[in-house]
Amino acid sequence: MNPITKAIRIQTERTKEMEHSSPLFLTSSFCYDNAEEMRAAFADETEANIYTRFSNPNVTEFIDKMVALEGAEAGFATASGMSAVFASFMTFLKSGDHLISCNAVFGSTVTVLNKYLPNYGIQVTYVPADKPEVWEAAIKPNTKMIYLETPTNPGLDIIDLAFVGALAKKHKLLFNVDNCFATPVCQNPIQFGADLVVHSATKWLDGQGRVLGGVVVGKKELIHELYLFCRSTGPALSPFNAWILSKSLETLDVRMERHAGNALQIAKALEGHEKISWLKYPFLPSHPQYAIAIQQMKNGGGLISFDLKGGLESGRNFLNQLKMLSLTANLGDTRSIASHPASTTHAKLSEADRQAVSITPGLIRISVGLEHIEDILADILQALEAC
Ligand SMILES: *Cc1c(COP(=O)(O)O)cnc(C)c1O
Repeated sequence: MNPITKAIRIQTERTKEMEHSSPLFLTSSFCYDNAEEMRAAFADETEANIYTRFSNPNVTEFIDKMVALEGAEAGFATASGMSAVFASFMTFLKSGDHLISCNAVFGSTVTVLNKYLPNYGIQVTYVPADKPEVWEAAIKPNTKMIYLETPTNPGLDIIDLAFVGALAKKHKLLFNVDNCFATPVCQNPIQFGADLVVHSATKWLDGQGRVLGGVVVGKKELIHELYLFCRSTGPALSPFNAWILSKSLETLDVRMERHAGNALQIAKALEGHEKISWLKYPFLPSHPQYAIAIQQMKNGGGLISFDLKGGLESGRNFLNQLKMLSLTANLGDTRSIASHPASTTHAKLSEADRQAVSITPGLIRISVGLEHIEDILADILQALEAC
C-alpha cells in the first residue's frame, strides 16, 4: 500500500465492538491472563503492551503511520517535539563526543545545544545553513552526528540533503534531520541518507493547534536504543494526544497540498510588492536554493518569509494591522499565522547572530492556513499598506 493509504488505514486491532474509528486506550498499564503471559511480555518475547510509558495501542498506531510516511524501519513517539530532539541527542551522544549542527535550528534546540549538552561533555559546532560545502571542514575525529533542519526556521533556507547524506556516510556520522517544517508527505530525509528523522507533531502533523507531540523514526537498531532511553527516562506521548495525532495523519496529505498551494499563490502575489525587499518561498524560482528544493521536496510547504523595507517598526506595524491572521508563536495550523522573529522569538539574539541565520529586522514569517486564499491574501495586502 502507498504510505498515504497506510496513514489512513493502519489501525490497532478492532475490539469486540467492531468500531470503525480507533478507540482511545486511556490506560496506564495492561493485564495478562496468567503468569506465563506476563513473564513473556516482560522478557520482550511478545509484542504485548506492559505500561504506557513503554507502549500503548494509540501511540503505536501513530508511530506506525509515521514510520510508513517517512519510509523508516521503526519509530518512537514522545510528549513533544523537544523531547524527541533531546532523546535523539542523549541516546547517541556521550561525554567527549562532538556534534555538528546547522546554525538555523529551532530556538529550544539551540538552548539544548548551548546550555545543556556541554554539561554532559558534548561539544557543538554550528555550520552555516546556506553553505553545506564548508561543513566537511568542521568534522573532527570525535564528531558523532550531523544535525539539521530544512527548510530552516525562519529563514527558509534549503539544505541539500543528498550532499549532507553523502558527507555523513563518508565520515560514518549519524545523520539526524528535524523534518518538522517539510512534513513526511513533502520530504523524506531517509531517502537522502538520514539515519534518524525527528518531528514536532505539534505543528503540521496535527495541523489544528490542539496537542503537543513528537516522534523519532529511523533504522531498527537505532530506534531500539532510543526506545530503551525513553522507556527509562519517561518522555512518553499521552494516548489521548496520540489518538488525535493518528486521526490528523489521515488528512495530512490533502491538508499539506492545500497549505502549499495557498502558500505558492500568496508568494507569487506578494513577490515584488513595493513594501517588501525580498520574499522567500522554496518553490519560487527566485529562491536561492530553488534547484535543491524541487529536487528533494514534493511541494514548497506552508511557510513564507519576507522582509519589510521599513525594518523593525514596519514589522510591528504589520502585525498590529492584521485583522484575521493570528499573532501566535506556533505554526502549521488551519488558521494562518504571522510572526515577527526580530521582536519575538529571536529578540534575545544579537543583531550579528540574527544576521547569521538570515533574520533581518523586517522579517515576517507567514504560516499559511486553510482559509480561503482570497481572505488570507486580502488581510496581508491591507496590513502591508500600513508598513
Ligand atoms: C516546534 C518545533 C520543535 C519543538 O517542538 P515542540 O512540540 O514545541 O516541543 C522542534 N523543531 C522545530 C523545527 C519546531 O518548529
